[in-house]
Formats: sequence, C-alpha cells, structure tokens
Amino acid sequence: MLQPTIHLRELLVWHDQDTILIIAIVYFTSIPIFFYLHRSRKKAEEYKLSYERLKTEADDVTESSVFNEESILKRYLEDKENLEREIEHLLKTLEESIVADSVSFFSYSAGELTCSVSTMQNLPGCSNEGLIKRVIQQKKPEVHFIDKKSTITLGYEATEGVQSIILSPVTDNSFCIGVVVAESLRFKAFDERDLKVVQSVSEEIARIIKRQRELTRISINQKGLEMLHEESGKLVQLLELEQILESIPRSVERLSGGKVILIMKDSGKYRIITSSEDDTKPERLTLKETVLEIVRSNREPLYLEDVKMFKSRVLPISVPGMRSLICFPLFHESTIVGFLIVYSEKPSAFTMLQFNLLEVFINQASESISKAILHEEIKLRALTDGLTGLYNHHHFQERLEENLKRAERFDERLSLMLIDIDHFKNINDTYGHPVGDMVLKTVASTIRATIREVDIAARYGGEEFATILIGATAKQAYRTGERLRKKIKEKRFAAGSKTFVVTISLGVASFPDDATNREDLIEKADLALYTAKRSGRDRTVLYSEIERINK
Ligand code: GH3
Ligand code: MG
Ligand code: MG
Repeated sequence: MLQPTIHLRELLVWHDQDTILIIAIVYFTSIPIFFYLHRSRKKAEEYKLSYERLKTEADDVTESSVFNEESILKRYLEDKENLEREIEHLLKTLEESIVADSVSFFSYSAGELTCSVSTMQNLPGCSNEGLIKRVIQQKKPEVHFIDKKSTITLGYEATEGVQSIILSPVTDNSFCIGVVVAESLRFKAFDERDLKVVQSVSEEIARIIKRQRELTRISINQKGLEMLHEESGKLVQLLELEQILESIPRSVERLSGGKVILIMKDSGKYRIITSSEDDTKPERLTLKETVLEIVRSNREPLYLEDVKMFKSRVLPISVPGMRSLICFPLFHESTIVGFLIVYSEKPSAFTMLQFNLLEVFINQASESISKAILHEEIKLRALTDGLTGLYNHHHFQERLEENLKRAERFDERLSLMLIDIDHFKNINDTYGHPVGDMVLKTVASTIRATIREVDIAARYGGEEFATILIGATAKQAYRTGERLRKKIKEKRFAAGSKTFVVTISLGVASFPDDATNREDLIEKADLALYTAKRSGRDRTVLYSEIERINK
C-alpha cells in the first residue's frame, strides 16, 4: 500500500498518463478496503467477546444452580421468557458471525416440532417432515445449497429464495431436543467453519435448556421440601403415639398424592392402624408371601410400579384397584415396628422426587414413632413394678380412687381383693431369693391371666398383690379369688431338682356394701386377709364373713 506513495514523485515524472491513472485508482480504492477490513475485524472481535461472555454466564449458572436455591430461583424463574431471550441473543450473534440472512431454533419435544425463537420477523411454521425431520432422527448436521431445480422438502417455511442452509441438531444425552437452522439467500454461502460455529451454538442452546430444566426441577424440589418441612414440623410437636400414628398418614397423603395404609406391630401381631379404605377393619395380619415380608427381610423401602407384575399376594389385605405402591418399613431402634404403604390406582404413579421426599419424611416419622414408644415405655415404667410388670403401689392407689369415683357416679359395684403369698419367707430361706423372685413373677402372671381385661392388678408390697375387680360384687370376687387360689396351688414350682407348692391367702372387701371410700375399703380388705391368714391360710375371706369366722 505504501508503494505508490514512496514512488509517487518518480511516477509522476517518469510515467505516462494511463499508468498514473491506474496507480491513482489502486491508491484511492485501497483506503476504503483498508477501513472495511479493519471494521469487520473489530466487529468479529466484538461478536467473539459477546459469545464468550454468554458462554461463561451460562456455565456459571449451570454450576451454581443446584445449591443456591432461593436467590437463583428468584433471578431466573421469575422471568419465564428468559430462556427464549437468551436463545434469541445467541441466534443474533450467530446470524452476524456467519453472515446468515436468518437463524431459527425449532424445539422438538414429545414428537412435536415448533419454532420458538427466530431472527425472522415471523416465526416460521413447520411440518415435522423432510430435511428437518431427518436431522432430528439422525442427530447429524446437514449443509444444503439449493438451486432452482432442487425439489428438496425442507419441513419448515423457509425464506423465499433461500439458497444455502445449515441444519444442526440440539441434543441432550442422545435425545434430540431441537434444530438450529441458518439460512442465506446467497448460493454456497456457508463453509466448514460456519458449520462448526452453528454446531457450537447448538451445544450452547442445549446447555441453556438443560440449565432451565434444572432450575424448574429445583423449584419443584423447593416446593416439596417446604411441604416436607411443614409436615415434619407437625410431627415433631406430637408426643403421644396415638396422635403421631394419626398424623403420619395425612402427611404422607399430602406429600405423595396417594392413599395410605399404616400397619403397626402391637403385642407381637401386625394390625392395620389407618387405611384410606374406610371399611378395612383392624385385624391381625400375616405377612407371609406378601410385599411386607420382602420389606421386612430387606429392611428397605420397596417400590412396586405395577402390582400386576408381582406374582404372589401383594398385601395381607385386599385393596381393590391398587396398581402401584411403595412400602416403607418403620423402625424403633433397630426393630421393624410397622409398615407404611402408599398406593395409587395408577401404575408407576410415583416419581423419584416423591419417593425421595417420602423417604426423608418416613425417616422422620420413624424417629417420632420411636420417641413416642420410648415415651410410653418411660411412662409405663413409672407406673409399673420392674419385677412383675404389674402396676406399682402408687399407681394402684390412683386407679382405686378413680374407679371408686366412677362406680359411685354410675352406681356400679367394685371389689378390692388383696393377695398374700403364704410363708413366702420360707421359700426365700429354703430355695434362695432368685427362686422367690420367680415365684413372685409366676403368681403375678397367674393373677393377670385370671382376672378380666378391665380389672386392675398391682404389686401392693413385697409378696402382696392387690386387684380391683370392676363391677364385681363380693360374691363374684370370691369366685375369682378361689379360682386364682386353686390355680396357684395346682402349680409345681421347681428349684433345682426339687419341686414345691405355693399357696396364697386372699381378703375381699366390696364397694358400696363394706366401705364407701378408698382408705376404708383397703382397711377392710386387709382385715379380711388377716383373718384368712389367722384362720389357717390358703383361703379367700370376705369382709362380710369375718364375724362368722371369728366366732
Ligand atoms: P405369711 O404367710 O404370714 O405371709 O408369711 P410370709 O413369710 O409370707 O410373710 P413375711 O412378711 O414374714 O415375709 C415376706 C417376705 O417376702 C420377706 C421378704 O424378704 C420377702 N420379699 C419381699 N420382697 C421380695 C422380693 O422382691 N423378692 C423376694 N425373693 N423376696 C421378697
Ligand atoms: Mg406372706
Ligand atoms: Mg406379707
């Protein structure tokens, strides 16, 4: 370029007019060419920069989105058009950098192809066939130059007179989720390098879409977690087992949208506690050859996407219409104390997200149940006697008071029966204290087995027991006492190789015939017991009979 300037003088002097003209033309045209080249290089730099910036922004979000719930959610999810705007921005950059006349993005989902973003004035329609369809199916980019004779079906509304197109698939984990189409009205407008640029923009779009999907997933997660938090909060406030067992199914229904059956172990047997089916009666269940048996042995939740695939019995009860279920074991310490079954009438009704949420909730529920069981155990321990498991003296007094009041209010009867083991000291002395303890336990369990469920049995003192026989007259109490006395007497207790017999003495006083308050009733029953001892032991004495016996 400098050549003409250096030799300008020489030229002007030595050469003829034609030569000077040519040189002048060359000289003057070189200036705009220089400026044009300079400008387009600068522009290319700018595009490159903006593309890089876009790329890093997109990467930043993909990396940080998972844990930065709220702030990112607010920033990105509030604006639903953000995704399309970002893609549009990217397409414009692409259009300019490959000097295309238009660039469009067709999204492909659930078999439907639609143009969602385009640099064209109107979004082009598409017919899900031809070239664009082939790109979706083969997931390979294509470059085409179309002359007038060409009969190729493009599958979308191309710009009138288009002569060059690039179609590049947008893929996510080997799924085609869309196609980027670049058009030019010039023939053979695109080369290898342009194709590469379109491909890298396609990859970028895939990343943006993926990121957006991730954010949506987080927002669902967030909602689920909020709900989980609420439901767990409700549980934590409850201490009583009964309330907890009532609350759990409701929470699970809310978290899963399914129906719930809660089965709990109750004195060694499984029973239905709650069920969405109203007419299911609580009954003893056997787990044999059911899903519950598998869960019990695996100690892990089990998801049955379609119960029809399960060959044997699914549950111990029949649930009409049930198609899919998740069964969770419930633990107290390390033993399984129950099962929670969530089910639906639809197959594959539960998502991984629901499963995960439920698992977290059920862990929490398990803990709550465990705590409540412990709470009950502690409560019971405070009320019962450690050796025999019967109520202790203190609790016995409370129950007697409460039941006397009740009997008074409802005009009912009640009998108090005191039981004392005869010559118990001898048993201890002859066979040792542990044998004495064994006798105490056996007598206690025999008492419990002899009286009715509603009656109350307590360890009154060392080798003395008390029973409150609800609704029983003195005569009825006498019969119960005699039945018990005979049962004990018939037992053969063993101490090493020796066996021995134990007898008991019983004293009975009744409300309201013998006494109308607690102290009086106890005193009179005690007097009857004392009379039984004095008159030869191994017998039942009614308070009303004392005078006759003492004669
Ligand atoms: P009686 O026929 O007059 O009732 O005579 P007894 O020997 O049964 O009555 P006594 O009150 O003289 O003796 C009660 C004994 O019970 C004394 C005590 O060592 C024993 N005893 C109290 N509590 C326990 C216990 O928890 N385990 C054992 N092995 N013995 C106990
Ligand atoms: Mg005794
Ligand atoms: Mg005694």
